[in-house]
Amino acid sequence: MGKSIEKIESEALKELKAALDLERIEFLSTKYLGRKGEVTFFLRNISKLPQEKRADAGKKANTVKKTLESAFTDAIRKFEEAQSKKGDAIDVSLPGRPVPRGTLHPITQISSQICDIFTKLGFDIAEGPEVETDYYNFEALNFPKDHPARDMQDTFFVSDNIVLRTHTSPLQVRVMEKTSPPVRIIAPGKVFRCDSDLTHTPMFHQVEGLMVDEGVSFGDLKGILTTFIHQMFDDEISLRFRPSFFPFTEPSAEVDILCVICRGKGCRVCSKTGWLEILGSGMVHPAVFENVKYDTSKYTGFAFGMGVERIAMLKYGIDDLRIFFNNDVRFLRQF
Ligand SMILES: [Zn+2]
Repeated sequence: MGKSIEKIESEALKELKAALDLERIEFLSTKYLGRKGEVTFFLRNISKLPQEKRADAGKKANTVKKTLESAFTDAIRKFEEAQSKKGDAIDVSLPGRPVPRGTLHPITQISSQICDIFTKLGFDIAEGPEVETDYYNFEALNFPKDHPARDMQDTFFVSDNIVLRTHTSPLQVRVMEKTSPPVRIIAPGKVFRCDSDLTHTPMFHQVEGLMVDEGVSFGDLKGILTTFIHQMFDDEISLRFRPSFFPFTEPSAEVDILCVICRGKGCRVCSKTGWLEILGSGMVHPAVFENVKYDTSKYTGFAFGMGVERIAMLKYGIDDLRIFFNNDVRFLRQF
């Protein structure tokens, strides 16, 4: 008949106590209680025992079977509980989840690059209101009422006398009213015009510059702007000054750079001219100095203004201005 039922029980409990994982517990359950298990085998062979021992052995074997069944069930339950507790616990060895971080908008990036270059050249940053009076936006800058030059700037009027500023140039007047020369400022900010197509949006960004002191000449203007363009694009890029007209500067010049795409050979971006217009500039008109009570026999100065979007488009080779304001993260993530 082999092992006694007591021996089977004690062996089973000993092995179960030593079991370290679920597979081992299940293996032992089969080994003792399965269809061909030791307890099952014992029960099946009771009939081979002598008559007088059968009843007692059967009783004992059934008790052992129940004991082992509940021992295995308990062991499995405890093991599963321990497993699920482990799952809830924090695993401090895992790397942290990264917090997604945005980037600065390309226009903000270019605007601060422009300001960085000029602050290194000794310019201070000035800021002013986006809703402006007609006086600061036009009249003080030598655009009298009904002057045809006002037509070049399609204006949003808030009322007869209040406008959304069409350029950052009002800052020239606001700063000069409060400061005596020397003045050296750079004014970044939003400007507004009723215009919307591939190259115009109703809101865009400009950076204005102004330098006033005794003996400031057109040579200084050329020097400062050449330094700026070389730092913004590259040291080799050629530029040219082309006569132009602005009411608040005299003489006035548009500044072109050699096309960054074709290097002057002529392409779609530069309309086959080989040159790209990049900013407007000129010597401050004496009428503007008179408006802020600067002594025109003593002081001279220059001013310039540029579109931040235009510079960003040229720097990154973007051909549709509107993409800057569509808030498409696929575009914005590239910067
Ligand atoms: Zn070109």
